[in-house]
Amino acid sequence: MNFYKPSQKQNKMTCTLCQHYCNISLNKTGICGVNKNVGDKIECLVYGYPAVINADPVEKKPLYHFLPQTKTLSIGTVGCNFKCSFCQNHGISQEQTIKKDKYYSPEDIVKLALRNDCESISYTYNEPTIFYPYIKDIAKLAKQNGLKNVFVSNGFESTEVITHMADLIDAANIDLKSFDKEYYKKYLGGDLDKLKQNLKLFKKLGIWIEITTLIIPKLNDSNEELQNISNFIANELSVTTPWHLSAFHPDYKMLDRPRTSTNSLQIAYDIGKKAGLKYVYMGNAGLQNNSKCPKCDEIFLQRITYKTTIDNRKYGVQCSSCNTKLDGVFKTARTMSVSDTFYSSSSADIKKQFNHFDSILKDANFNKSLPFIPKAIISPHAGFIYSGFTANAVYSMLENIKPTTILVIGPSHKHRFKNASVSMFEDYNTPCGNIKVDLNYANHLKNKYDFLDFYPAVHNEHSTETQAPFIKSKFPDSKIVEIIYGNIEHEKISLIIDEVLEKYPRIFIVISTDLSHFYSQNEAKKLDNICLEAIKMLDIDTWNKGCEACGRVGVKALIKSANNYKLNSKIIDYRTSADITNDNNRVVGYVSAILG
Ligand code: SF4
Repeated sequence: MNFYKPSQKQNKMTCTLCQHYCNISLNKTGICGVNKNVGDKIECLVYGYPAVINADPVEKKPLYHFLPQTKTLSIGTVGCNFKCSFCQNHGISQEQTIKKDKYYSPEDIVKLALRNDCESISYTYNEPTIFYPYIKDIAKLAKQNGLKNVFVSNGFESTEVITHMADLIDAANIDLKSFDKEYYKKYLGGDLDKLKQNLKLFKKLGIWIEITTLIIPKLNDSNEELQNISNFIANELSVTTPWHLSAFHPDYKMLDRPRTSTNSLQIAYDIGKKAGLKYVYMGNAGLQNNSKCPKCDEIFLQRITYKTTIDNRKYGVQCSSCNTKLDGVFKTARTMSVSDTFYSSSSADIKKQFNHFDSILKDANFNKSLPFIPKAIISPHAGFIYSGFTANAVYSMLENIKPTTILVIGPSHKHRFKNASVSMFEDYNTPCGNIKVDLNYANHLKNKYDFLDFYPAVHNEHSTETQAPFIKSKFPDSKIVEIIYGNIEHEKISLIIDEVLEKYPRIFIVISTDLSHFYSQNEAKKLDNICLEAIKMLDIDTWNKGCEACGRVGVKALIKSANNYKLNSKIIDYRTSADITNDNNRVVGYVSAILG
């Protein structure tokens, strides 16, 4: 879609990016200085030339109810459609010379965001509407890569642009700088009525919005004006729309006024609360800015400046005290339940441990070659000092495969329940970095198989969690899907594995199990040998001859599917906990195997 049209005036083109709707003569630019009539079209001159790129906390935008505690890649260009005399970014916004030292394609920007562990891309610093042709291309690609898009704007977009944004932009922070029409016209070169219309349109289209008002002493800080702003937000948008009160400091051409006092911010805060606004924040003043549950007043996010210090949310979206659903767009992350016990919570320590395992394999001339393409592994799940070597040995054989998704299937140790749970959390926060959950595939599984549901409480399970540091280290770009099973027949789990083998060549399967528990070393070896034989022969009858394993359902499901799809199998490592404890009276058995 183009954001220009021939003007009714001869030889001119109309730019439809913002409410100025500039009629631009040939070879001239509009008010913003960066959109130019080049004859048959209007060219956005800053396309590919951001003036600033930073990875910021999303709280800095400010957005307090949108993916808190995540980073956002923030970009801005030169130029602006407003001329605010107090602009704190005037170095770029009021600049029109475009530095073309380096071209950043939309692909480059998305890669930068992913490389910097950002969850979103923010179009900010200057007014993003003026470079929307660039944004729409980046935002589309960002979405395809699981990133969200954020607009930080003065709210003067054209209706065409906001309507187009509905499919691309997830959140916006919009300035509501005053409630005085003359002020908007005289100081900013804008139009209050159009801004109000736009805010309502953002809301109507379902884009999450937060509002910012820069409180300037003696300019827009009268009680009446602040009441008008807060009543508009409460009545025309929603009482759940966060209102950020930002302290002014003298800048650019407005050097004759003092900084906003904490007292003024407090007065504005009280006015906002009196209007019924649930979330009012005082920014730019180094104060605590906690988010409280609108029902029970419990702090759910304790925050100082941009840093969240305490997070009291349940499953990411509920107050942990009263279960009220919180307003905003929150990530639901699967938090780790056994880091610091089963494995270290330090990525450096985990890396050191993996390097140590690798060096043992190297010294032993471990043979990584396989006569088949790997499709699945069996991996143990005890503390890394016990079973980490066995797990690492099998993961080290997967160096040449690049799965899009790892499907991890393990038994529940802490919860008794019927059937199985597929995790619908969005992220898997391992100490080695975040793994994105493949929600498309997880949703597909949940919808297709009636024995699968999502029970959040059971996803504090170590059988699957202990695989995550290996997955993040060996497959940094892969997504994850976690299935934890309770009381279920192996035939049901086998249906899922069959479907992967049949239809999803880029999904790799990890079946988690330990073997016998707490027998003497000799007894354990006898029992475990049955399991090893069954896995080697892919024979369920052998497995049923007395084999003991906590993840038996998963292993039997894999053996069944392996027979259906004529896979091969190879045992990679077997040992018991006695190797570490030297206690032969009471051991646990560990196996790793590869199938393909
Ligand atoms: S973006 Fe706005 S200010 Fe710039 S040329 Fe287009 S209509 Fe004019």
